[in-house]
Amino acid sequence: MRCAVLVPEWRTEDVFLAAFARSMGSYQEPSGVLYIASSLLAAGHSVLYDDGALRSNAQMMRKVASFNPRFVGLSVVAPLWPSAKRLLADLRRALPHATLAVGGPWPMAAAPQCLEEAPEVDVVFTCEGELASKDAVAALEDGEDLTGIPGLVWRATDGTIVDNGYREPIHDLDALPFPARELMGRDIQRCTLPPGGYQAAPVTHVIGSRGCTNRCIYCFHYEQEATIRLRSPENIVAEVVECVERFGFREVRFLDDNFTVDRDRVFRFCDLLDQSGVRIPWYVSSRVDTVDAEMLRRMKASGCWAVLYGIESGVQKNLDTIGKNVTVDRVRQVVADTHAAGIEMFLPFMFGIPGETFEEGLETIDFALELDPYYANFNAITPFPGTWLWENGGRMGTMVRDPHRLTFQGVAFTPHTMSKQELERLRQIAFRRFYSRPSYALRWLRGAGNRHVARAILRGLPSLAALWLDRGAFKA
Ligand code: SF4
Repeated sequence: MRCAVLVPEWRTEDVFLAAFARSMGSYQEPSGVLYIASSLLAAGHSVLYDDGALRSNAQMMRKVASFNPRFVGLSVVAPLWPSAKRLLADLRRALPHATLAVGGPWPMAAAPQCLEEAPEVDVVFTCEGELASKDAVAALEDGEDLTGIPGLVWRATDGTIVDNGYREPIHDLDALPFPARELMGRDIQRCTLPPGGYQAAPVTHVIGSRGCTNRCIYCFHYEQEATIRLRSPENIVAEVVECVERFGFREVRFLDDNFTVDRDRVFRFCDLLDQSGVRIPWYVSSRVDTVDAEMLRRMKASGCWAVLYGIESGVQKNLDTIGKNVTVDRVRQVVADTHAAGIEMFLPFMFGIPGETFEEGLETIDFALELDPYYANFNAITPFPGTWLWENGGRMGTMVRDPHRLTFQGVAFTPHTMSKQELERLRQIAFRRFYSRPSYALRWLRGAGNRHVARAILRGLPSLAALWLDRGAFKA
């Protein structure tokens, strides 16, 4: 069957504040969509793929109309729901008989709302889209309806909404085909991260595990259990080799929630990567309770140049409130070990935690300066649908439930313990203090021989100016 998988059009300004959109501009391939595409291809279907990060809805519609698919799937995050609805209306006009489906974080968390707000939607995939979409397309090809296929909610011909229930997570992730990067064509050359976030381009994203053993109050996971499913190091290295040798990628960023959760697996991965002969920079996300100094040195020796730890707060009470399950002392120790290993750090922090005061926010800023990472981000906590905070935040603060404003930039949640203006001020003070330090500027200037770093400096300058000149730079 002819199938199309798309991301609705969006621009950096849709998810970043205007003053910083330029310096945050990047392009990352939609890995989840490419996984769906590869499953459909493996099942023998023809697949058209396109990405609205690079093309307008109108441009994509021209391709889709001439391909004439019988099944179209859109991947949607909350801020893109208005764009998705526009694209769905265009698709329905052009393809009156096609089955239109949506998946991704927003539909997974708000399936009934999607079906209600977009009458064009026939199916919402709620878990394990690779299998659910493959089974759905097989049923449609056989002229059947979607009865009994787990992991989706659908609209029957009489208009009834049918929830087929939970689909068990895929346990053997090695059995999945690699994402269909071959469909990206020349888009591969456009894959970068925000300036300063990579050492060589193009950069691709590899997902070595799914799930997380923790449950922070603001983090969305569709799995009923707080568990993690791991691909084997052999399987991951095979994908990395394919990315480099077949597609020409020059850096890999791992999208695992916690790449270092299994110590033996990390060492085995490093051994296999070395043996493969592929020598590229790579970057992982981790938790400070699952790394140690020896592991960090081993990772560095195999090419790991940066680690992201979600630090979030420098105040223990607030770490406990968000369910981070780490201590401030442990953060200090691991950050020191990571500095000693020669690995750069990306540390996100957040403001607006339930119960947090303005003064505690200032403590978090001091903590960020003390840790002195390569890069720090200061977001507003955001209550995404499907999270504990979305369900319970109304008791602890003021919530915005408009999906378009559910970005880390939009101050979608304001705790009763601080005002929205204080939250915006904290972000401005934090970015200003962190990025205006002469020692920080010097460190970057020393790296300016690398053209990607030089580009990051140039693109960061307007944002730095906005931090000082625009008093309302963080006004959402
Ligand atoms: S924020 Fe990180 S540690 Fe917390 S639940 Fe999500 S992935 Fe796990």
